[in-house]
Amino acid sequence: MDAKDVKAHVGNLEKGVKEKLPAQYLLDILGALKKEVVATEQLLRDTKVGMAVNKLRMNPDKTVSELAKEIVAKWKKDVHSKTKPGSTSDVKKERNSTASPTTGSNPMSPPKPSGKKPDSNSKVDPGKRNKTTDKITWAITSDQVRNNCIGAMYDALVLNELDATSDHIFTLAKAVESSVFSNNKSKTDQPYRRRMQVLFLNLKDTKNNLRSRVVSGEITAERLATMETSEMASAERRKQDQQIIAQNEKDSMMPKSEKSISDQLTCGKCGKKRVSYTQAQTRSADEPMTTFCTCELCGHRWKFS
Ligand SMILES: [Zn+2]
Repeated sequence: MDAKDVKAHVGNLEKGVKEKLPAQYLLDILGALKKEVVATEQLLRDTKVGMAVNKLRMNPDKTVSELAKEIVAKWKKDVHSKTKPGSTSDVKKERNSTASPTTGSNPMSPPKPSGKKPDSNSKVDPGKRNKTTDKITWAITSDQVRNNCIGAMYDALVLNELDATSDHIFTLAKAVESSVFSNNKSKTDQPYRRRMQVLFLNLKDTKNNLRSRVVSGEITAERLATMETSEMASAERRKQDQQIIAQNEKDSMMPKSEKSISDQLTCGKCGKKRVSYTQAQTRSADEPMTTFCTCELCGHRWKFS
């Protein structure tokens, strides 16, 4: 398949996505690309086929996204085997040119806007970048709360991101904040602030890879704005949580003498019915007892009377 054919396929892929054509339509094109394209950096760049297929990795149809992932992996291998160090191909020259923002270093990724990278001569440790070291003008709205959130979002996203340009991070920070803002009818009241707080905490958490998934574009700003907290955890973390619940489930099969376990109470957090409870008179004697509940599986505690 030559560059012209590949370009035609890219056009058809874009048409398929735009017009929401059936998954089979995309699968046929992807199948042909997989079979007939041996990728070079030049070809990927000229035809933009790398970007087009890369986008399909996030396609809601699983067969499409899986095939797209396969192709991206294969092409990365193709490209890698061709660019041996020491070769003086056109590709290499192009790689060194930073004049045009359309010549990003990775043909699989959308072109990144040109922007300040941490200056290697400056005194700032690249691992300690923030809105001040990157000289970001973050107060861009007329609302001080929003401005503070945009600034804080920049700091959360740029943490340890050594390679990302400040423009890229700032664009993301603005997009995340504006998505959260438009999702909340009550402007910057509690729900907005709580949501932003949850995002800051999870983005800064070094135990999940949420931040790099956002910076790489795997998770869009719109998606992040409404994402469940449980989905923000890394796969590894989710597995650990599952293991803890499974272990507790096993432990809780053992008879417990002192606590009563009810199968009538449902845990509000994990939804399982293995809740132990004790009762106490916390107020005056003519008022009902207070029941203290503990979920034996996830440890969630609550009370009611
Ligand atoms: Zn529970």
